[in-house]
Amino acid sequence: MQTAPGAWYHSLSYGGKDLAGTDPYREIVAETCKLLRDAARRGRKTVPLSPEVAESVGRIQTGRETKRQLLDALEQEVRACKTCTLAGTRTNVVFGSGNPNAKLVFVGEAPGRDEDQQGKPFVGRAGQLLTDIIQKGMNLRREDVYICNVLKCRPPENRNPLPAEIDHCEPFLIRQLEIIKPRVICALGTFAAQTLLKTTETIGRLRGKWHFYHGIPLRATYHPAYLLRNPADKRKTWMDVLEILKVYNGEINPKPDE
Ligand code: URA
Repeated sequence: MQTAPGAWYHSLSYGGKDLAGTDPYREIVAETCKLLRDAARRGRKTVPLSPEVAESVGRIQTGRETKRQLLDALEQEVRACKTCTLAGTRTNVVFGSGNPNAKLVFVGEAPGRDEDQQGKPFVGRAGQLLTDIIQKGMNLRREDVYICNVLKCRPPENRNPLPAEIDHCEPFLIRQLEIIKPRVICALGTFAAQTLLKTTETIGRLRGKWHFYHGIPLRATYHPAYLLRNPADKRKTWMDVLEILKVYNGEINPKPDE
């Protein structure tokens, strides 16, 4: 027998309400709530639960988890992922890093060698340029924003992501963005922009204007690795970054269809 702490009573009753009629755990929630209510009436702070029920209750989300907790849980899922062949060649999963409450999320393509080694996004040469854009250009800290990639595992020899790899990995990105709910998104390079915007348009045509990802303003710009090879285009990325800053600072609020 396991016990559920009395404090669960409150969150479960909320959870019970939210989940009613829609959730497979509905009966377990209802039963557990009843047990906890009876226990509370008798002045008891815990109730005995069978291991099966305790396990199910442990999996119920009460809607009160912090974004950090939700991201941590998602990261555990990604770490266990073996859906595509990249799982066999990766050193580390590169889930993402930064502030779970960030107003701004940068989305890149996929981890490179340095990122694969360290398990962190954008830590190589391209990452140094991104860090400069964030710190020197935007006057923010890396810890203020959130940085992640479309693919969470490195494609061998830094080849382009395959469509099937994107299909497998994209749900993780969707859930990451759903948890963070940033004010603005910056897609870095072709793969991030095309994946998020569901288009085959080139980055040259996508940049320089506002797009929307599930209602969130999205700016696509050149990938830092491209900028290292084509420094003359840094000026255009700077224009994009200035627009992103306006949304970040609440100076403008682009809306779809305006
Ligand atoms: N390029 C990317 O797109 N992502 C990284 O994390 C590093 C390099």
